[in-house]
Amino acid sequence: MTDAFGRVIDYLRLSVTERCDLNCLYCGPGARCESGPAACCAAGELVSMAAACVALGVKKIRLTGGEPLLRRDILELIAALRALPGLEELSMTTNGQRLPELAAPLRAAGLDRLNVSLDSLRPGRYRALTRGGSPERVLKGLAAAEAAGFRDLRLNVVLLRGFNDDELAELAGLAREHPWSVRFIELMPIGAGAELDAFLPAEQVLRALPELRAWGQADAASVARLYSAPGWAGTVGLIAPVSRPFCAGCNRLRITADGRLKPCLHAPEEYSLRGLSGEALRAAILAAVAQKPARHRLAELGHSESARPMQRIGG
Ligand code: SAM
Repeated sequence: MTDAFGRVIDYLRLSVTERCDLNCLYCGPGARCESGPAACCAAGELVSMAAACVALGVKKIRLTGGEPLLRRDILELIAALRALPGLEELSMTTNGQRLPELAAPLRAAGLDRLNVSLDSLRPGRYRALTRGGSPERVLKGLAAAEAAGFRDLRLNVVLLRGFNDDELAELAGLAREHPWSVRFIELMPIGAGAELDAFLPAEQVLRALPELRAWGQADAASVARLYSAPGWAGTVGLIAPVSRPFCAGCNRLRITADGRLKPCLHAPEEYSLRGLSGEALRAAILAAVAQKPARHRLAELGHSESARPMQRIGG
């Protein structure tokens, strides 16, 4: 699929639930996946939407939420998605709280890669930021993921001035010891994130760690600029949607847990795929791709134009 600006669209973020077991200060509590028209899709609906995207050229799918590990049928869903012909990679973003028990079953079901969110290593601070989570569970989950055979593990750290800016070296240091990519992400003004006065530019990480040097070559669709240092086992990534937007290389679509296709995270437009199949489903996806905007307007407006908060879209 190619959009109106010549971008090849081959990456789908598929949200599988709006529920979450954490309530991060900058994101908020999960929603309920209530009954009625806004109910979360059944696994079969998500698989048929994803299958139509894959048939149209999507090569990578990342499962997100809400917290995807809260979905009871997550293993069956993964197995069904992994069987889609043409899909090259199936990954997931998780808060890691349930990873110690689920890493091995996720791998066995066919999940290829994991991104794990971890904004602080300090138990009290992490608990305050997430309102209830434990960083020890995340670290235990990462160890379980490695033991289960997951490679190229990625950690997502949202940069939060006044919350974790004194911990950047410690968090990045995980990539000194482990073959992981620790990715620092700028806080986006969306949902509860728009209310929090905590923005910190990604460049701050380079000031905290002057030994870091540019590492490898980022491809056009890669959102992270990568860095490493001699003797480090892994890399540090900077993701700067606010100070250095990467819309020109954006290759993604999003489908929300209630079955709406969002061509751009920060645009208000959503296209319902619910109840569609065959040619109608295919046509709806192509029509939405044709409407993908050139770029978001976070910098000019200071806020997202998305009608939904992050936990109802999937990060
Ligand atoms: N529950 C899973 C998790 O915590 O990774 C997946 C969903 S969560 C919405 C996905 C990612 O979005 C997380 O890494 C989270 O930190 C990030 N996120 C949420 N709100 C954000 C915001 N306002 N700015 C930047 N990143 C945000």
